[in-house]
Amino acid sequence: MILYTVVGNGYKDLSQLESLEDVHVYVNLTNRCPCACTFCLRQTKTMEEGHSLWLKEEPSVDEVIQEFQKYDLDDFAEVVFCGFGEPLERVDDVVQIAGILKHFRRDLPIRINTNGLGNLIHERDITPQLKGRIDVVSISLNAPDANEYYELTRSRFGVQSFEAMLDFARLCRPYVPQVVMSVVDIIGEEKIKKCQKICDDLGVTLRVRPFEE
Ligand code: SF4
Repeated sequence: MILYTVVGNGYKDLSQLESLEDVHVYVNLTNRCPCACTFCLRQTKTMEEGHSLWLKEEPSVDEVIQEFQKYDLDDFAEVVFCGFGEPLERVDDVVQIAGILKHFRRDLPIRINTNGLGNLIHERDITPQLKGRIDVVSISLNAPDANEYYELTRSRFGVQSFEAMLDFARLCRPYVPQVVMSVVDIIGEEKIKKCQKICDDLGVTLRVRPFEE
């Protein structure tokens, strides 16, 4: 499933929707990720066949564009790069696809949901590539300190991942109109306050999401 949307707690292929008006379209580009988060559905592999975000093969840029060509971009509320993996593993393809979509609809809002480790993955600063292509970057902050973050994400880059993720948020700011960091509400008020302070210091927005089983 390359293009999908979220319905309740499930995922639905775009082709199965009766109406596409105001739909939030998710692009599933890769299952690769440097993390192995304790809460990630990637660990469980329990997705139903046919509704699966597991990719047999990563779609090429052409294949993704061909999927978009089946629809009217004007119907969409937003396009979000987010799947069962880290979209910025394929940063070059993400910005190429976003550029093509913006060419056909300049005001189409485009977001990336990311773990914020793109600069570690590519061993360079990728944030300038996002300029003019991406409207919102939403980074999973997860926790207010490096050790807890590492325990949760089990990033292959180790405990340095937390600082790199914060740096990524800071570096995105000149290039991306809206930089958001997210946590789930189950971490509790005290940790949410610490996360708010981190976001205030970085000059980005904190989003507290409700926890879903
Ligand atoms: S960063 Fe996202 S895709 Fe990667 S393991 Fe964590 S929750 Fe899953």
